Amino acid sequence: MDEMADINDMGDIAAEFAAYTTGAPVVDTKAPGGPVNERWDTRRFEAKLVNPANRRKHTVIVVGTGLAGGAAGATLAEQGYHVVQFCYQDSPRRAHSIAAQGGINAAKNYRNDGDSVHRLFYDTVKGGDFRARESNVHRLAQISVEIIDQCVAQGVPFAREYGGLLDTRSFGGVQVSRTFYARGQTGQQLLLGAYQALSRQIAAGTVEMHARTEMLDLIVVDGRARGIVARDLVTGKIDTYYADAVVLASGGYGNVFYLSTNAMNSNATAIWRAHRRGAYFANPCFTQIHPTCIPRTGEHQSKLTLMSESLRNDGRIWVPKAKGDDRPANEIPEDERDYYLERIYPAFGNLVPRDIASRAAKNVCDEGRGVGPGGQGVYLDFADAIARMGRKAVEEKYGNLFDMYARITAEDPYTVPMRIYPAVHYTMGGLWVDYDLQTTVPGLFAIGEANFSDHGANRLGASALMQGLADGYFVLPSTINDYLARNPHRSGDDDVNDEHPVVQEVLADTEDRLRLLLAVDGDRTPDSFHRELGELMWEFCGMARTEPGLRKALERIPQIREEFWRRIKVPGTGEEFNQSLEKANRIVDYLELAELMCLDALHRDESCGGHFREESQTPDGEAARRDEEFTYAAAWEFTDTGEAPVLHKEDLVFEYVHPTQRSYA
Ligand SMILES: Cc1cc2nc3c(=O)[nH]c(=O)nc-3n(C[C@H](O)[C@H](O)[C@H](O)COP(=O)(O)OP(=O)(O)OC[C@H]3O[C@@H](n4cnc5c(N)ncnc54)[C@H](O)[C@@H]3O)c2cc1C
Repeated sequence: MDEMADINDMGDIAAEFAAYTTGAPVVDTKAPGGPVNERWDTRRFEAKLVNPANRRKHTVIVVGTGLAGGAAGATLAEQGYHVVQFCYQDSPRRAHSIAAQGGINAAKNYRNDGDSVHRLFYDTVKGGDFRARESNVHRLAQISVEIIDQCVAQGVPFAREYGGLLDTRSFGGVQVSRTFYARGQTGQQLLLGAYQALSRQIAAGTVEMHARTEMLDLIVVDGRARGIVARDLVTGKIDTYYADAVVLASGGYGNVFYLSTNAMNSNATAIWRAHRRGAYFANPCFTQIHPTCIPRTGEHQSKLTLMSESLRNDGRIWVPKAKGDDRPANEIPEDERDYYLERIYPAFGNLVPRDIASRAAKNVCDEGRGVGPGGQGVYLDFADAIARMGRKAVEEKYGNLFDMYARITAEDPYTVPMRIYPAVHYTMGGLWVDYDLQTTVPGLFAIGEANFSDHGANRLGASALMQGLADGYFVLPSTINDYLARNPHRSGDDDVNDEHPVVQEVLADTEDRLRLLLAVDGDRTPDSFHRELGELMWEFCGMARTEPGLRKALERIPQIREEFWRRIKVPGTGEEFNQSLEKANRIVDYLELAELMCLDALHRDESCGGHFREESQTPDGEAARRDEEFTYAAAWEFTDTGEAPVLHKEDLVFEYVHPTQRSYA
């Protein structure tokens, strides 16, 4: 905070550099060269393998059972490794991935509409506003095709068209139809597939599953990840678990904003604790604000609900042309409506990428043309689609989403347009990983939403499920072999155990933190702090960011942190099921992560994708990148709480998709 005081006192751009130091660039040494379409084959061939008979001697910890972790645990166990897996839900199949609605992308080109691996690669690099790695994105596009085959083989009930082929629909930022779906429950069906595969291994004894167990810290011995400290959420017992490698598949950190579309329990603790133990955190400020969520209704709310992007295939987005027009939607004549996305972006219309659709919604609301309470909403209207396709066809495609909307709002979206507004949805930032998905801590891997690797500054819809399953079923199970082969397990080796001084220290840290949380006995609930932090983040590090706003947030966060440790009230004890303790412990991490997010947003003095700095926009109000200065991933190294972190830059090179001003007009 002294550093923050400095930057506030000095008040010029150069002063920002007082808040962090710059270290050596970070280089992805695993990324192969050569033609982009051969790199994945090259890496797989060059990577060392572990003899099948030796695999059972290796233990791999997997934290998380969502699509990324579930897929990874099942596949590693199938290969013969001994897997020890964790989730905080009561069953692996309740991971947040189950909430995914709209679909999963794959370059199958079943529709023969011009799709290809190269086009998916191109769309994803461009959609990410040229802040992702070409090598990783190309691999993702290649693997997308295999994912669909794998899931179909598992029996995932994807929607089919009349002829029997799998059906597809379109998502934002693309002009082909490559999104495979299972009504509005794609994540649930995919997760059931992964869960089945995982359950088979649990039954076979190759996966040791610990549900309702939360990782609270990482054990790093001699520079390598060797285990975790975790708490049984039912009994409160804290235990240590050891392995030859640790995989974090713990999801995203959107809940730092308090209100988001994420499951209430999604949190940042696993990745933040790993960051504190040496794993760099990349692009923490890259947050996705989803344009189609049910608007907030008041102060009482603790959760926001997504209306899937798939709805933009057939729904039309509009607001009244006139400011303050508060007539009911159905009374506003056609020529007094502004279908603003179709007007501003005729080529992509309602299917522009999320960052663009969200900003456009904010702009029309800021102009005073928003609808619903407080003017914080725009219409998503299906009247044309119902007239064109008939109500039954709309019901078949989107029925469960319409039902969900009706239950939450008590309005019938078949007769009255839905009201939607942008909300925090996904985090593109995460632990920095190399091409092998290994973090800067050897032996620690991060997959799925927990890593930063493939989506740049903006993720295209239906690409998270694709990435999670690519990482879990295909990438990690290939690349982790190389690490394990190079660090052979010495039979009977129990050099890391509870007596080891490092383990004792990590255990003591965890126990002290929980004890302190219980001991403060103040007068504010964990939720009250979380809400305060979330509101601050939404205001200053949300859809639009400014230098003064970010500075203000950076000044305020340490104050909230200080107040937290004075006034937090956690009832009960640590030796029992105690959700207040769980929450409070997660907020400790949010209070540090939030600061890094704001610092990252302040230092990135450009707009790109979901990171919109008001100072850096085109005359049309679009995000203006500053490629000469910012074509890099920002990988942050932790020093200490409230101390200046170290910035390591990874230069991004574009050989195939050349950076241009994104245009969807
Ligand atoms: C409402 C909604 C709809 C979406 N729809 C789509 C869509 O249609 N298409 C698409 O591509 N993407 C969609 N997404 C995004 C996508 O669902 C997620 O990015 C993806 O499911 C994340 O998967 P994951 O495996 O990385 O993590 P998660 O599914 O979040 O799983 C995290 C796992 O880690 C465990 N865990 C976390 N921390 C700890 C800890 N400390 N100790 C122990 N266990 C821990 C949890 O218990 C859980 O098992 C949607 C997101 C939301 C919020």
